[in-house]
Amino acid sequence: MISNFINNQRVESQSERQQPVFDPATGQVQDHVVLSSRNEVTQAISDAEAALHSWSTTTPLNRSRVMFKFKALLEENREELANIISREHGKVFSDALGEITRGLEVVEFACGIPHLQKGEHSLNVGTGVDSHSQMMPLGVVAGISPFNFPVMVPMWMFPIAIATGNTFILKPSEKNPSAPLFLAELLKQAGLPDGVFNVVQGDKEAVDTLLQDARVQAVSFVGSTPIAEYIYSEGAKYGKRVQALGGAKNHMVVMPDADIDGAVNALMGAAYGAAGERCMAISVAVAVGKETGDALGRHLQDKLATLKVGPGYGQSVENDMGPLITKEHKQKVCGYIQKGVEQGASVLVDGRDLELAKSSDGFFVGGTLFDNVTTDMTVYQEEIFGPVLCIVRVDSYQEALKIINDHEYGNGTAIFTADGDTARDFSTNVQIGMVGVNVPIPVPMAFHSFGGWKRSLFGPLHMHGPDGVRFFTRMKTITTRWPESDVKVGSKETTPSQAEFVMPTMK
Ligand code: NAD
Repeated sequence: MISNFINNQRVESQSERQQPVFDPATGQVQDHVVLSSRNEVTQAISDAEAALHSWSTTTPLNRSRVMFKFKALLEENREELANIISREHGKVFSDALGEITRGLEVVEFACGIPHLQKGEHSLNVGTGVDSHSQMMPLGVVAGISPFNFPVMVPMWMFPIAIATGNTFILKPSEKNPSAPLFLAELLKQAGLPDGVFNVVQGDKEAVDTLLQDARVQAVSFVGSTPIAEYIYSEGAKYGKRVQALGGAKNHMVVMPDADIDGAVNALMGAAYGAAGERCMAISVAVAVGKETGDALGRHLQDKLATLKVGPGYGQSVENDMGPLITKEHKQKVCGYIQKGVEQGASVLVDGRDLELAKSSDGFFVGGTLFDNVTTDMTVYQEEIFGPVLCIVRVDSYQEALKIINDHEYGNGTAIFTADGDTARDFSTNVQIGMVGVNVPIPVPMAFHSFGGWKRSLFGPLHMHGPDGVRFFTRMKTITTRWPESDVKVGSKETTPSQAEFVMPTMK
């Protein structure tokens, strides 16, 4: 039974509720995860609160040293961790390693916390008066993460939250709950004190407890848009600071002057890597001009014939793409493919025809390619979160820009072109949070911040990087005046102070 990690130890849950955890490559149940009760989550909050004073007053350099040790342990254990990810998520081992690297980079960023948390200082804001600011921790904070990055997304959150002096409760996805427990063990080995990082497994009951408990100061959420909207409004109702990252529909514009081979290779990786279960996956290729559309369709169709689909685990696995996360999700993705057919898109490759998709109990769907998709079709409008790429054909760059800007989601986008002027116009005018120029998946590095626009993010602050530090801290500004000192002047005759009733101004 996969359970909780509280106060630096695995804790058996008393909850009677649990749910199966599958091996997506075989479809078999491999374990069960507890769904923690309200009481258990409340107890975890109490434990995190008890650890707060000591941890928040630990020197930033000592907090950063724990992060340095954690980074070293992650590097030593990355293969074991990648196997855990792969077995529960289904993504291929090399992709799981990539996810760990992107999370580890946030730990590297958090190692610099003594510098990042520094405030500003002004001498003589008035005569004899100085002012300084300091980024203070918030208190007990929580993270709620999705299934698709069981390590990277929690690591967008907790390294910065902990390094800045908060204590943290993670509620991972119940679909693949084991990797965060492994991270908790590594943090303990790195010397993190009891109660600073806790993992509670669960579903809506655990999430609602975190949202409603007044001791939790902030909630960082990543998941689908309907749940992100709920978390944002519910968190605000209970007076919390919230950042809630939601779903996506990411377009890649291919201009007539683009290197088609480069664009096709970029699309293959960005659309079908991790079986399309990435919030930055490209799910729409916008081909500008008939020739571009024809070339994309032809080349992608050829490449899809060579896409290797199969189980993801094992260091020597050579598959490009693993299964989807659950049987229900496979059915949902297949339902979208059916809708695309019914609504008149041209099916160049139907992933439901893949032998493995038909014969295996695993949750496999092959790479799917639609051409002549129009913006009124469901496969265009909704996030499918599977290996389905739609080609939308337009006549001009302006038309491409307009359809992207009209879409409800605004997470990531890319343009492939050889023309700097077009790329510059696109970067400036596209209403999307993360933009790639000849880069298909423009996920910002750890020292920048990650976040979308429109219905892909609720809340003003993005994740990790400078915004991550802002999210998990609040500014305190201290203004100081010391009375004239007889110690310094060497006599008892200092100027007496007077009561002042006007708004203080600089003197
Ligand atoms: P999800 O919204 O189903 O679940 C996310 C988290 O919310 C999980 O921990 C889950 O237990 C919890 N949850 C689910 N239903 C809830 C409810 N009714 N009340 C309270 N909590 C609830 O998302 P998922 O299927 O795990 O992940 C895929 C989604 O996440 C996709 O939409 C994807 O685009 C999105 N995502 C976005 C980003 C981003 O950066 N914008 C990154 C990764 C994933």
